[in-house]
Amino acid sequence: MQIKEIFDKKKLVFSFEIFPPKATSSIDTIYKTLEALSDLRPDFISVTYGAGGGSNQNKTTEITSIIKNKYNIESVAHLTCISSTKNEINEVLKGLKQEGIENILALRGDIPLDEEIKGDFKHASDLVKYVKDNGNFDLAGTCYPEGHMDSKNLEEDVKNLKYKIEAGVTHLITQLFYDNNEFYNFMNLVKKYNINVPIEAGIMPLTNKKQIYRIAELSGSKIPDKYRKIVDKFEHDPDALLDAGIAYATEQIIDLISNGVDGIHLYTMNNPYVARKTHNNIIKLVHSINRDL
Ligand code: FAD
Repeated sequence: MQIKEIFDKKKLVFSFEIFPPKATSSIDTIYKTLEALSDLRPDFISVTYGAGGGSNQNKTTEITSIIKNKYNIESVAHLTCISSTKNEINEVLKGLKQEGIENILALRGDIPLDEEIKGDFKHASDLVKYVKDNGNFDLAGTCYPEGHMDSKNLEEDVKNLKYKIEAGVTHLITQLFYDNNEFYNFMNLVKKYNINVPIEAGIMPLTNKKQIYRIAELSGSKIPDKYRKIVDKFEHDPDALLDAGIAYATEQIIDLISNGVDGIHLYTMNNPYVARKTHNNIIKLVHSINRDL
């Protein structure tokens, strides 16, 4: 099923994101994660795509296929384009089609710092256009409630969303954020620029201090004081920190749902405990919103 049909049917979509194991790890590790996640029946699971080429990229196709064909859960394959030629993208599209994958999250990818860019694409919108012309996939795109680092400011970044929507993206997934006010401010701009596709809020429960500060640095997401205090208080007790992180994410999600968000995309970090606990905390709310449909 194409993801746009799920958004047509449901007021609130709930999805997971996972990543393939490192090239040095066995693919079996992800099978255990999937086995543990599959009975939660999210609306879809998306699988990230390594920007650097090689076997990690084949794993994305393999894992999206298992999610769809073994567990009967709709899957979305992430696909980056900044270092890819059209021929390389054609190969990936061929593989996805063979496995019956119908959904792609089209991404530019991070610009490599120390190598020349040899690809045929400049922006995610170029990839969206190309895939639209070369296959029957439903296409999603990304957006950044606090602005993408390459943009002059948030307003310019929001205006640029028009390009990928005009090229054919049917819904957007946000970068993670820890302060819902950043998301609401972003949504006001989205309205101002008449962006009308559904937008899923990306939420990542914190799992450890080092990871959270690294991700915040990479993504540019601000860490609110309230959050910082939790991290500082429990950094030496990983189990307590994990549960505090899940509680914080739950509070964020309840607030987002109460304010009418179109969907919640949970960055699971391949951690079934995090996914299950967060899921259990909010699933009755998700059902309540969708009940009358
Ligand atoms: P774009 O949409 O191309 O935007 C990049 C910049 O260009 C922005 O500043 C934007 O305002 C501007 N821009 C966009 N279109 C145009 C245009 N037509 N003309 C002028 N300016 C334009 N990375 C991976 O390597 N693998 C993954 O699996 C992955 N998954 C992700 C999932 C989510 C939900 C998110 C939020 C990010 C993910 N990323 C992933 C990271 C992503 O690749 C980086 O953030 C990257 O730097 C930007 O990709 P993009 O598709 O958002 O870029």
